[in-house]
Amino acid sequence: MSALIVGAGPVGLTAGIELLRRDVPVRIVDRVDHPHPHSKSIVLWPRAIEAFARFGAADEILDRGLRLNAQNYYSGGRRKLRLGFDQVRGTSYPYAVSLPQQDTEDVLRGALRRFGGKIEFSVRLTALSQDADGVRAELATSDTTSTFGTPWLIGADGSRSTVREQLGVPFDGATYPQQFLLADGECDTPLAHDEAHYFMTPKGVLVVVGLPGGLYRVFVSVAPGVDTTDAREVIQAAATERSPVPVRLVGEQRTGLFQVQRRMAGRFREGRVLLAGDAAHIHSPAGAQGLNTGIEDASALAWRLARAGEGPAAAALDVWERERMHIAERVVTDTDRQTRMWMLSGWRRTARDLALAAGQRTGFTDRVVAPRQAQLDLTLPGRAERLGKLVAGARLPDHPLGSGGTLHDELSFGDPVLLILTAASGHPSAPERARRFLATARVPEGVRTAVIGPAEDPDGRLHKEFGIREPSTVLVRPDGVIDFLAPLSDEPRLTAALRSWSTGA
Ligand SMILES: Cc1cc2nc3c(=O)[nH]c(=O)nc-3n(C[C@H](O)[C@H](O)[C@H](O)COP(=O)(O)OP(=O)(O)OC[C@H]3O[C@@H](n4cnc5c(N)ncnc54)[C@H](O)[C@@H]3O)c2cc1C
Repeated sequence: MSALIVGAGPVGLTAGIELLRRDVPVRIVDRVDHPHPHSKSIVLWPRAIEAFARFGAADEILDRGLRLNAQNYYSGGRRKLRLGFDQVRGTSYPYAVSLPQQDTEDVLRGALRRFGGKIEFSVRLTALSQDADGVRAELATSDTTSTFGTPWLIGADGSRSTVREQLGVPFDGATYPQQFLLADGECDTPLAHDEAHYFMTPKGVLVVVGLPGGLYRVFVSVAPGVDTTDAREVIQAAATERSPVPVRLVGEQRTGLFQVQRRMAGRFREGRVLLAGDAAHIHSPAGAQGLNTGIEDASALAWRLARAGEGPAAAALDVWERERMHIAERVVTDTDRQTRMWMLSGWRRTARDLALAAGQRTGFTDRVVAPRQAQLDLTLPGRAERLGKLVAGARLPDHPLGSGGTLHDELSFGDPVLLILTAASGHPSAPERARRFLATARVPEGVRTAVIGPAEDPDGRLHKEFGIREPSTVLVRPDGVIDFLAPLSDEPRLTAALRSWSTGA
């Protein structure tokens, strides 16, 4: 079992790390001769940081990044909504992190090296073919071409993916008419540096976000046809026009011009070739979802691929495709809605502003919108079981344990974990029952077990928070998603679920 990863952007790197730490050899190639110096993405949401924590890279991301504690939406020169991330529950990271993409990639390259991986730069995939046994990739350097055989190929080669093109997979969608310009650098403004600010005006949007080192990103939409030759000048004029407070670019700025699209690949899997990240879906940067979603694509793929090997469990990759297409559709829809929301005029603008103010007043936006944007509430399709507040197909919330660690620390080993929640209060015999269950249950190979009882949850807060009132089992996938849950008393269901897990269904 091994894989070729085409593209050493954030998604290819995450896939590489997650495979290497499961002892799956990988070859990673990228057509450029050195890492891209440009920053596209800056915002990392809690779910991506949790993914980085599983392979030991979160601390460096936090050290190098800037914590963003809130988002503010302004219209008509006044703030209509403040989304505070401190309301986000069930994670050790109740904030977003602002870190330029090239720095995130640098941290990921460091992690890749620690797991024994290396990137082959200046190697470009030019063509591929496959049969039931494997994939043949044509790889070119500046002076050679060669054919490389691999059991699996991951196309993490960005929005203009050659892998996708070679498969003949359509990439349907649309291009937004506006252009977007950004400037990263010093900025003289009273706007809070540790928050994001969206100024929505009929002429377009202005976004101001803090960057590490006291810098800011200033991002503006520009109407079609506007001359953007002097990007800085255009950005400064738009910022002055759209913000009620000074936003003055100071000194050297790194500027960029973007045409934004929303598109999704018609399939994410074709036999032994898988598409992840921007190769599979691209969307507007509204809500900062692209890189974050790609990281999840990669971490949800790698553990399945490592299990799939050559056996029947390869069918599990179809499940991955179904799940990730569902998530991508939601992200494309959400970001499209937000992009359109930026640009409204007339009565639609008035209605939007009223809705934002009502959302703030009722607490709806803090309760619902913030976790959605933070990607914490994504639920995978085809699942319905619930136990207390836990839902199959959703992410297992994190919670502190009595030991000083957290529940998610149990997931950092890379294996699936069968959690036994003993429901401490009112069930004095529960720990004993859990031990008996573990002694007799046929826990599949490669699944670790962990008991969360009175010793781990001394004040019972975790059980209360999760709504668990009777001894229960929760099987958590290596990407932190709840695969199934059932009370310990429901032995037939539990046995069936464990059996289907061991056959990879
Ligand atoms: C202005 C802007 C702001 C953004 N802000 C955010 C944000 O705040 N948060 C967020 O989550 N997302 C954001 N995004 C989106 C984010 O940048 C992308 O989703 C992310 O880069 C996708 O990563 P990737 O690894 O899939 O692809 P890429 O980063 O595009 O990497 C693909 C790699 O594949 C290589 N490659 C391509 N073709 C070949 C080939 N034939 N052979 C070998 N190698 C190849 C390329 O050289 C490249 O290194 C933003 C995007 C833009 C444009």
